[in-house]
Amino acid sequence: MNTYQGSCHCGAVRFRVTAEPITTGCRCNCSICVRKGSVMSSRYYGSGEFELVSGAEALSVYRFGDRVVNHAFCMHCGVYPFHDATVKPGQYRVNLGCLEGVDPLALRIDVIDGRSF
Ligand SMILES: [Zn+2]
Repeated sequence: MNTYQGSCHCGAVRFRVTAEPITTGCRCNCSICVRKGSVMSSRYYGSGEFELVSGAEALSVYRFGDRVVNHAFCMHCGVYPFHDATVKPGQYRVNLGCLEGVDPLALRIDVIDGRSF
């Protein structure tokens, strides 16, 4: 198991992921992900794996369409650190670019066809 420290750009939002080593990432072609351009974790992290360390007060949430996904972003620097879904509460997919020690562009990146969902 590895522990990854995560943060937005300005550092107001800090989180931690404890999980198996991260060797892959994913991108998505849906209307919001294609605009954000982030490389995200290949899976969602749940309780015992994802922990928001600080910055809950700095987070805002963007929802659109069917409004089932909570796209979190830092109100100060605008960075997207993670999102979760109301259908899977407590399960977070994270922005790998926010994790210390992870070079997201060096990973195998799979593409999710979110546009078709
Ligand atoms: Zn920030």
